[in-house]
Order: sequence, then C-alpha cells, then structure tokens
Amino acid sequence: MLVKAEQSGVVRGARFPGRYIQGVGTIARLGEEAGGFGEKAIVLLDNGVFDLLKADVEASFATALQVEIFRHGGECSERAIAALAAAAKSAGASVIVGAGGGKALDTAKAAGRDAGLPVIVFPTIAASDAPCSALAVVYNEDGTVAYDTFLPSNPDLVLVDTALIARAPARFLAAGIGDALATWYEAESCRRSGALNCMKMPGVPLAYEVARFCRDTIFEFGPAALDECDAKTAGPALERVVEANILLSGIGFESGGVAAAHAIHHGLCELADVHHHLHGEKVAIGVLAGLKLNGMDDEYERVRQFCLAVRLPTTLADIGIDEATPEKLAVVAKRACRAGEIIHNEPITVTEEMVVRALEALV
Ligand SMILES: [Zn+2]
Repeated sequence: MLVKAEQSGVVRGARFPGRYIQGVGTIARLGEEAGGFGEKAIVLLDNGVFDLLKADVEASFATALQVEIFRHGGECSERAIAALAAAAKSAGASVIVGAGGGKALDTAKAAGRDAGLPVIVFPTIAASDAPCSALAVVYNEDGTVAYDTFLPSNPDLVLVDTALIARAPARFLAAGIGDALATWYEAESCRRSGALNCMKMPGVPLAYEVARFCRDTIFEFGPAALDECDAKTAGPALERVVEANILLSGIGFESGGVAAAHAIHHGLCELADVHHHLHGEKVAIGVLAGLKLNGMDDEYERVRQFCLAVRLPTTLADIGIDEATPEKLAVVAKRACRAGEIIHNEPITVTEEMVVRALEALV
C-alpha cells in the first residue's frame, strides 16, 4: 500500500548544495574554487583552527585571487553575521568562505545571504549534517540559542578535506554518526505520516532513498571509520562515513524531514546537565528514545548495539544526566511535545507521558 507521501497529486521537493567535493588535500583547491566566483574572497576561519590552517589557506589563494582572512570569534550571533557581511561588502568580495566548525560555517552562510554573495563551506570536522543545509542557528551573545534562520539557498559549494577530518578528534566523527543516525528514522517517520520536509512539502522519493543510503553507510562503515580516525588516516571507511555525515545526512534531513529524535534533542537541551555534550551525541539519545516511543524494541536493541560500537551514548547518564528525576524528564518531554513541534511528524500520536516513559528506558 502506498503511504501518504507516495500518493499522486502531491507536490514534492528536495534541496541540495550547489556542488559537493570531498577528498584528501582539498584545502589546496580552495583558492581555485573561490576563483570560480570572482576576483576577491573573504574567508572566515574558525578560531579553533586559525593558527593551524591560515598558512595553507593563504597558499591556496596564492595564484591570482585576492583574499582577506578573518578570525571567527566563536559565536554565530547577529553581530558576527552583520560584521562579516559588512566586511565582505566594503572589501568588494565576490564570495564568502566559511572554514571550521558549525558556528563559523553558519556565520558565513547567513552573511552570504545578507551580503547577496555566494558561499563556500569548508568544514574541518564532520560532527553534524549542518554544512550542506540552508539553515543557520543564531546564538545570543551569552551563548544561548536565539533562533534558527532559514536561508533562501544551500551553500554554492561544500568542499571537504578528509585529511583534516581524520586529524580531528574521533569524538567529532562519532557525533556526526549520531546526527546521521537520526536521518533515516526521522525521514521514514515523515514518509509514513506524510509530514512535510524543510521545504514545507513531502520529499521526492530520492530524499528517502538518500536517507536510507545514509543509514546503510554508517552501519557498514562506522566502526572502521573511527579506527581510521584514531590512526589519523583518511581511509576508505572514513571517506564513506564523512560523505554520510555531511552530504547524505544533510540532504536526507532537509528533504526527508525531521521528527522525534531532534525534538527529544531539543528537550534534552533544556537541561544544564547536557551542555558539555555534542549535538550528535544528544541526537543519538533522541533516536533511541524515539524507537522506544514507537514501540520498536528490536530496532532499539540493534541501534543500541550500533551506538556502543561507534562510541555514542546509550543512556541518559552518558550525556551527563546522572539523576534522571521525574521533574527533569517532565521538562524534556514538555519541550519535545510543545504544539507544532517536529515530534508530531511521527506516524503515531505522541504525548508527554509517552516521552517520559521512553526516556525512563534509557536511565
Ligand atoms: Zn542534527
């Protein structure tokens, strides 16, 4: 039987980054690729990798292109976005490059919109599926989340240097696997319920197939990719998992849709206990709770074993919630189940009590 999203007479869609390039040593191509957009580039380089990568970035631009490199202060705030857009305009830049972790990339993406310029995203870790998306998370100056901003288009180019990703701590790659783990379960929930994707329409069939491919890839190559990362080697498994974490998960979540795992993640973030844990680590807990929520106990056990194999948390204590009091679980459930929240994209009716019971299974 066709599920709702497969029925005829439905307008569907998917969205993608303009181009995606991945491989060892691609940092050397950054200048050449930026040159495809014009004569002058502004690079926002993450504070965490600034000293490590500045010389390589400059070297890649050595040929003809003019470049100005700015150090990213660490926050994707309205002030940081406005400052970068203003710098790009006053420099007469033809392209903005964001290089580093999620906040530097999001700042560049939002500044590109405000300055009316194309954007190149150069992630140096594969800890989430944010790089390919048309979404930026804006923070207040005190570090709390202000709001999500939806951009009119995805980045023009996502350039990934797997040699750099392999040099970063394996914990980041594992977190990216956690974010990628949610993609198929959430897309499948949306496919079955007919819920809408980030374009406010059901995905085209390709969107759900990309999500499935994402799941299959991390299940097959996840543990070996982490071993390669431990050895600082961009081997064949790491290449596959980086593609899954960044490209497949990015397309899969935007075009397939999101549901319980990320809603429960948002709920968990209400607790100060979890603040030292990465997005993908909390999302993995959201996936496990989402499977319990749907009564999928066999799949829960399969995914739990996978999480153990790829160094992801499987209990609330693993993400800092040592005392899972009824009060704390109620706070998580309330936030996860608020009106209009993505948890209601699940094919079942979800209540706060159900979320509390699902979380209790993870104590
Ligand atoms: Zn995510």
